[in-house]
Amino acid sequence: MSDSCLFCKISRDEVPSNKVYSDADTFAFRDINPQSPVHIIIIPKKHINALKLDDICQQDAALLGKIQIVAAKIASSFSEMKNGFRLVNNCGPDSGQTVYHIHYHLLGGRIFGWPPG
Ligand code: AMP
Ligand code: ZN
Repeated sequence: MSDSCLFCKISRDEVPSNKVYSDADTFAFRDINPQSPVHIIIIPKKHINALKLDDICQQDAALLGKIQIVAAKIASSFSEMKNGFRLVNNCGPDSGQTVYHIHYHLLGGRIFGWPPG
């Protein structure tokens, strides 16, 4: 937990969000600036800044793996994602990351190009 972190505050309901899913250790909410018809941010409630390998612990493996399952669970509840979705993690300045609490973008409702921009 970090007192200054926006996503920690969102996961504690201290900053309002359009919540989609929550359980004991993960939280999901609508992105404020959606890049597709459905754009959801999925985070661990634990504050993890994964820019460097040193910042991410072996003990986080199950938690971060669970996010893939949470993503599939959320996607299955949206008709817009019945034909698929994209799950994206931006890491570091070159990726365009702006919030340094590890998070995954669950995007759906349109066809995505490859390679990404
Ligand atoms: P990234 O660029 O990968 O760090 O993604 C951060 C994402 O958080 C961006 O897509 C922002 O639009 C989104 N975001 C920033 N502030 C909020 C907020 N208060 N509520 C919901 N999404 C937000
Ligand atoms: Zn945080």
